[in-house]
Amino acid sequence: MSHEHELHVLNPATEEVVATVPAATAADVDAAVVRAARAQERWAALPPADRARLLRRFAVAVDEHREELARLEVREAGHTVGNARWEAGNVRDLLDYAAGGVERLTGRQIPVPGGLDVTLLEPLGVVAVIAPWNFPMPIAAWGTAPALAAGNAVLLKPAETTPLTALRLAGLALEAGLPEDLFQVLPGHGPVAGDALVGHPGVAKIVFTGSTAVGKRVLAKGSALLKRVTLELGGKSPNIVFADADLEAAAAAAPMSFLDNCGQDCCARTRVLVQRSVHDRFLDLLAPAIESVVVGDPADEKTDMGPLISRTQLERVRSYVDPGAPGIRGTAPEGPGFWFPPTLLTGVEPHARVAVEEVFGPVAVVLPFEDEAEAVALANATDYGLSGSVWTRDVGRALRVSQGVRAGNLSVNSHASVRYWTPFGGFKQSGVGRELGPDALAAFTETKNVFISTEGPAQ
Ligand code: NAD
Repeated sequence: MSHEHELHVLNPATEEVVATVPAATAADVDAAVVRAARAQERWAALPPADRARLLRRFAVAVDEHREELARLEVREAGHTVGNARWEAGNVRDLLDYAAGGVERLTGRQIPVPGGLDVTLLEPLGVVAVIAPWNFPMPIAAWGTAPALAAGNAVLLKPAETTPLTALRLAGLALEAGLPEDLFQVLPGHGPVAGDALVGHPGVAKIVFTGSTAVGKRVLAKGSALLKRVTLELGGKSPNIVFADADLEAAAAAAPMSFLDNCGQDCCARTRVLVQRSVHDRFLDLLAPAIESVVVGDPADEKTDMGPLISRTQLERVRSYVDPGAPGIRGTAPEGPGFWFPPTLLTGVEPHARVAVEEVFGPVAVVLPFEDEAEAVALANATDYGLSGSVWTRDVGRALRVSQGVRAGNLSVNSHASVRYWTPFGGFKQSGVGRELGPDALAAFTETKNVFISTEGPAQ
């Protein structure tokens, strides 16, 4: 088989081939849509309690195979084993949370003259989830769990580099008793299988997570068919540290806010904005914290940071960092694997490429600011608007800055951005729409209004 018909999955820590998976063609997508549409009709007709029960069983199956899923993610994506366990647990939690919504997906009864008016929240039909490689399991589940819970069928296209956990999740869904064809995984190339899903008239909604460039193409093509499209795209999020913050706590938290998952995180706090009066002291606190990050074998429990996903990504990250540029650097293994050391660059111009573009690697820049107004202006000097953090002991300032930063997810004295209980999504070029949170299921429904006349027959 030629390369275009199969996907070679590499272990990014060793560059060894872990598996070879057939790549779905446009014809495979056509056949999958037909099967999914049939399965969806039967699924939506089941009593809500039965759908909820099956999703809970799916959650139990994921929980029982958490270690297996985590080890698979370590091998195909180079995630640290601790992170990978959390990610598999997150899939379980997303399924449980969505299952809880099935029997609570209520419409409204609206007062009108001459009758009774109710709204029905009906499933969309077949939903496509196009996932990236940076968090293969959680991001697949963000779309899949609420879509299934709201009565839809799901076609999941994982990224080329990371199809294995997605395939295993589909297997677990069947083992848990979910109907055949309801949740199908189509590993394949973006421009082939992904593009076919976006252009298929039988797919009602596209949930896309990935790069801004591809996201724009998906939106344009999907819009031509009036599909529902949500986009979770990139970020260049600020970590704003004020002089009145608990500097020790801020410095202890800052490294993993841009190094977690080797920086391949759309919410990574890659612009460290520090008030000038504490700039030097903050860097003194930060340096040992960055230098002590353990980079190495992701399967080792003690490892903090593993490799980048691929050679392409390694080359991309290298293109942003001049080896002689001033900054603080950690260490990384030599030899096979896609390794890059933790890197915090100092003395960078605010408009430099590395300060404005998403690197998607373990690289951040430090930018000093004078006062609150300049901090907010710098934070907003980006096309992106996904996340951000504010470190201060002043409650009023925390609120003012949170309101001033144009981004979808702000955290105060914390870097937590993505939690399944709360809505997540981007402002500006970081995306369209919201996922997760209490409204997650409603985003996978159409609202139908039904008016029932109470007038008697005309006299
Ligand atoms: P990408 O946008 O190319 O891929 C994301 C998904 O879209 C994959 O499943 C891919 O197969 C699919 N895809 C690609 N072309 C498609 C098309 N024409 N139609 C439909 N689907 C298509 O992202 P990438 O190349 O894997 O990563 C490049 C950059 O994107 C990264 O360096 C990073 O900056 C950014 N990124 C962001 C996120 C995020 O979470 N926001 C995730 C991954 C990558």
